[in-house]
Amino acid sequence: MAVDLYAILEVEASASGSEIKKAYRKLALRYHPDKASEEERHIAETKFKEISHAYEILSDEIKREEYDTYGTTDGNGASHGGQYGYSGNPYEDFYGNGGGQEYGGNDFYNFFNNMNGSNGHGARGKPNKMRTEDAEIEIEVTLEDLFRGKTIRTTSTRNIICTSCKGSGAKKSAVTKKCVTCEGEGTVRKIRRVGPGLVTQEYVQCSSCKGSGKTYRSKDKCKKCDGKRTIEETKILEFEIVKGSKSGETIVLAGESDQYPGKETGDVKLTFRTKEHATFTRKGDDLYSKYKITLVEALCGFSRVVLKHLDGRGIQICTPRGKVIRPGDFIKIKNEGMPIKSSSSGWFGNSPSKRGDLYIEMEIEFPQDNWYLEKNDLTKMKNLLPNELHSKVDIRNQTIDDDSLPEANIELVTDFTIAKKDALPDYKEPETEQEEADHGYDYDGYEAHGAQPECAQQ
Ligand SMILES: [Zn+2]
Ligand SMILES: [Zn+2]
Repeated sequence: MAVDLYAILEVEASASGSEIKKAYRKLALRYHPDKASEEERHIAETKFKEISHAYEILSDEIKREEYDTYGTTDGNGASHGGQYGYSGNPYEDFYGNGGGQEYGGNDFYNFFNNMNGSNGHGARGKPNKMRTEDAEIEIEVTLEDLFRGKTIRTTSTRNIICTSCKGSGAKKSAVTKKCVTCEGEGTVRKIRRVGPGLVTQEYVQCSSCKGSGKTYRSKDKCKKCDGKRTIEETKILEFEIVKGSKSGETIVLAGESDQYPGKETGDVKLTFRTKEHATFTRKGDDLYSKYKITLVEALCGFSRVVLKHLDGRGIQICTPRGKVIRPGDFIKIKNEGMPIKSSSSGWFGNSPSKRGDLYIEMEIEFPQDNWYLEKNDLTKMKNLLPNELHSKVDIRNQTIDDDSLPEANIELVTDFTIAKKDALPDYKEPETEQEEADHGYDYDGYEAHGAQPECAQQ
């Protein structure tokens, strides 16, 4: 029965080896039986086997030729078995015949998992498509850097494919032979047991030919790389930290890691974290700061430079006449927070006008004890302040027993201290999620909360 294997892999009959491989990976992912629903699993499994079979033949040059010529390879697997190292059972062959294990068609689960392994290799017969390791860099940046944006330049020394021998390791004139150890594959297969009845395979570089699949006489070694196939290259890498970026983000320079013949080149990844800032705390795109004013400023207003912003500007605040600043109040200045890094407009389209807000928490400094010069000052102060601030009667809706003499039931306490909030015992009560939300991101709620009097008037 002639089946169109090219149609199964959804490629042209003229497709290259890498196109076939790409198509296979795409389809294998799509029809992974683990992804299919219960009802569709059977179909997915059948489809998966079909794809695997098509790939089995089309990825092998000799079998593909045979298929192209005769339109079939049916029944020929056994006769070619010895010749091409193909047993006729793709799964068995995939796991290697040497191990003595028996594998049936159901093992494609393992097959698939293996293909998805960290290196993305494992597609049968083409084990060389591995990636070189990614290089990871971590740096600390300041909040100023993230506010303004910054370009990080770093010197990178990496291996690149030798420019003289193009990675073969041998002179142009060298006579090369197919490596006998790896049969020209450049890698040898290693079976590793990972559990009862479970094995995984790894491809390791062939030590005889250093992965090139070819051997040659030692005097034919490339002079430039000394047969190592790669040479060192030093260059400057540039990482662009876009303004408004957040701590912990990673910039990826694709393909800037070590090169190696036959391997995909890994990436260089730079992750940056922000150092703590003396003045500002960042929450989302907003900035938070604290500022201390005196009681007189809280009552009478002020006009003053209260902080130096991340770009060096002084921020001056002038409170409107008559505005009273209360403990716990925040001054909110719109658009003075961090620049907002817009993901939609990409790297170059950051609109400079989009900024978070700045919140300055007001801390009010009260006068020292015995602040007055003359006793009379207390009376003067009292007379200046409105009547309702003179005294407050509040015994919290509790009544004192009337039956006894009033004096007898009232205790005059003179022995007390004033404890500061941060000097109170620590009861280690966990913060509720709601409180965290209020403190963190719900700024409207925050404002309203700050303006509320602590106790309701009676
Ligand atoms: Zn070379
Ligand atoms: Zn070899």
